[in-house]
Amino acid sequence: LPPADVSALQHLSVAELLPEPGVESDKYRRGVVGVAAGSATYPGAALLAVAGALHGGAGAVRYVGTAAEEVVRRFPETLVTEGGPAGAGRVQAWVVGPGGGEGARQALAEALASDVPVLVDADGLTELGRLGPDALAGRTAPTLLTPHTGEAARLLAGADGGTPPPADELAAARLATARRLAAAYRATVLLKGSTTVVADPGGVARVNPSGTSWLATAGSGDVLAGLAGSLLAAGLPVLDAASVAAYLHGLAGRYAAGSPGAPITALQVAAALPAVWRRVR
Ligand code: AMP
Ligand code: MG
Repeated sequence: LPPADVSALQHLSVAELLPEPGVESDKYRRGVVGVAAGSATYPGAALLAVAGALHGGAGAVRYVGTAAEEVVRRFPETLVTEGGPAGAGRVQAWVVGPGGGEGARQALAEALASDVPVLVDADGLTELGRLGPDALAGRTAPTLLTPHTGEAARLLAGADGGTPPPADELAAARLATARRLAAAYRATVLLKGSTTVVADPGGVARVNPSGTSWLATAGSGDVLAGLAGSLLAAGLPVLDAASVAAYLHGLAGRYAAGSPGAPITALQVAAALPAVWRRVR
């Protein structure tokens, strides 16, 4: 592993990184996020990733996948493209995999062949674990992997050509796991869980203090994927995009849950993002 450079994410450093549209800005300059997500079994994951991207500051969101009807009904501002990422117009960052099912394989291949940043989550990570690190070897733009512990185990199995390490071992060594994955895939890794850790292949790692266990709810990771995709499309360097997304997502969970806390849904986390953004700024 490269020498470690580890720090905790802080309010002020995150505030400095938040993108803000200038007077001359337009939707393209703010960033177009491509979301390749959802399947017949999990149409909702597409909605949640799009929600995270829209509330995360994207100038526009372009959706590819089988849940277009549901997505547009709920979020009429979404652009829809038939087919996969390869045929989609202007996109500045791709989010691939939430609820992607079988379609994730083709979507991943097409997105990875692009020259823009790609965030890989959920079913996209399962597919990447099958392919192993070589699948990223030809990339000219950054790749961000956003596994939870189970997905991290599958990715490590793909890198070592073996069986997945026990998930509880990986959870106990979160920082080491994120750094190991980043080095093996030569990609930036956002390892989700009770304490989220972000690590890049150069040895820089950041630990996020902002979350709450109320975030342990279905779909919450899909919102995070969309949010991080927005920040990538806005042009943030990949480690910063991952860090800001983890921080804002954790804070949005806390904000939505309130004090004392109460159960929240993933859509409420997405809807809390503007308030949290304002507070951090
Ligand atoms: P996913 O498993 O993909 O739905 O992602 C779950 C999201 O909830 C991630 O952002 C995790 O960091 C967050 N999360 C899950 N469990 C906890 C927990 N116990 N404490 C804080 N955050 C959590
Ligand atoms: Mg997930």
